[in-house]
Amino acid sequence: MSDGVWDYSVFWKESINQIRENISEQEYVMWFNNIEYDSSGENEIILRVPSSFYRDQVKQRYLTLLQNILLELSGNHINVSFVVKKMSGKKRESSKEIKKSAAQPLVQKAKKKNHPQLRDEYIFQSFVIGENNSFAANASIAIAKNPGKAYNPCLIYGGVGLGKTHLIQSIGNSAHNDFDNIKIEYITAETFTNEFIQSIRNQSTHKFKNKYRSVDLLLIDDIHFLQNKNETQEELFHTFNALYDSNKQMVFTCDRPVSELKHLSSRLRSRFERGLNVDLQPPNFETRFAILKQKIDDKEIPIPEEVIDLIARNVTSNVRDLESALTKLIAYADLVNKSITIDVAQHQLRDLFSNPRQSNITIDMIQRAIADYFGLSHNDLRGRKRTNAIAFPRQLAMYIAREITEYSTTEVGRDFGGRDHTTVMHACQKIEERKHSDPTLEPTIQHLIRSIKEYGTKA
Ligand code: ADP
Ligand code: MG
Repeated sequence: MSDGVWDYSVFWKESINQIRENISEQEYVMWFNNIEYDSSGENEIILRVPSSFYRDQVKQRYLTLLQNILLELSGNHINVSFVVKKMSGKKRESSKEIKKSAAQPLVQKAKKKNHPQLRDEYIFQSFVIGENNSFAANASIAIAKNPGKAYNPCLIYGGVGLGKTHLIQSIGNSAHNDFDNIKIEYITAETFTNEFIQSIRNQSTHKFKNKYRSVDLLLIDDIHFLQNKNETQEELFHTFNALYDSNKQMVFTCDRPVSELKHLSSRLRSRFERGLNVDLQPPNFETRFAILKQKIDDKEIPIPEEVIDLIARNVTSNVRDLESALTKLIAYADLVNKSITIDVAQHQLRDLFSNPRQSNITIDMIQRAIADYFGLSHNDLRGRKRTNAIAFPRQLAMYIAREITEYSTTEVGRDFGGRDHTTVMHACQKIEERKHSDPTLEPTIQHLIRSIKEYGTKA
């Protein structure tokens, strides 16, 4: 450190050793294998990270801890800053490279027959990684390369059409391709339940148990379906334990965080929560654009950039809706033998373009949906009680009412037991604030809005 040349690399090495002792191995591998020491400045240490996503996550999770350790070690306040750069290579592969190697094992093998339960288009190569899904996608890639070793179990959660099935099946396809003799079962929770019931009827439960307890990789899609299915839950609980004890990999998907599954036994819930839980968020504009581009490339159909831009701007809900917009447009162009121009797109897709303020939704419907979700009564939301258990769902209901209906704050207040419009404004502000501190809130809100809208179209 003489002559103004600063070198805190030793402190960095020692701090990560200490951090390693403080957090789980899995967390360490996830976050710290992706960070490299870059350089030092006066009272400053500069670290290299592969993306702004990593930088933000690491800052949020570990910056304070890291700075405290550095202070203890050096006796100085050492600032930690990050540069987003390609890693030096020896330590880390970029997700693209992982993608490639996950798909192409070093020794080229003869192409295996497809796995009977997996769709062959659900592979990592066709999954576009953006900030909304990179944690889930990279964890999935790691699992596929090292089943039973990296993150076990893993639970991927997120709203409809955000890529849960695509990712869980990609894990299966990749492992099926890379490992000889690996036993993989992919099943939806619904089919699992039906098979189990059938096996009870046929008195063949031992066969059922055998089948699922002898796999190397168990992939169960949509476990929210298991709610209220007590016997199936019990069965899965034992399957889980058997597989877990023998280090067999399990991956599950769910439409919300497990903590929000109401009708699930607590012991099964705690099993799901034991490993890594990662979420999928709706894609941002850039990722939507990239996804559309990729889907079009696959089809080799000329679609002008401005049309892609138009769709990416207007279809914001999820990837499934993006795909339907594209399919609809291509089908139309095909049918009437027209090329796809911005006018054609605008006209054909006007119904699909998100129209968040739906007139058929009433405040009453919103209240019922939220009350149901939180296990409250409809009257709780309109009443006077202000316990925490009621105040938050009530605020959320007000917020959603303002988001998806045309009612004014005065009208909303009136329907919530004659409250003042300032109460509604306050509620909306509270929810906005909470969204910043609680990353699970936005997906929950999106989930609720979807179920309210579904209910709205049926009503
Ligand atoms: P979920 O199971 O979460 O409801 P899916 O996995 O069925 O969602 O995804 C819906 C559609 O969107 C599928 O056709 C899937 O291939 C596609 N999709 C989702 N996410 C991505 C992505 N990141 N890149 C490319 N395609 C995607
Ligand atoms: Mg799915």
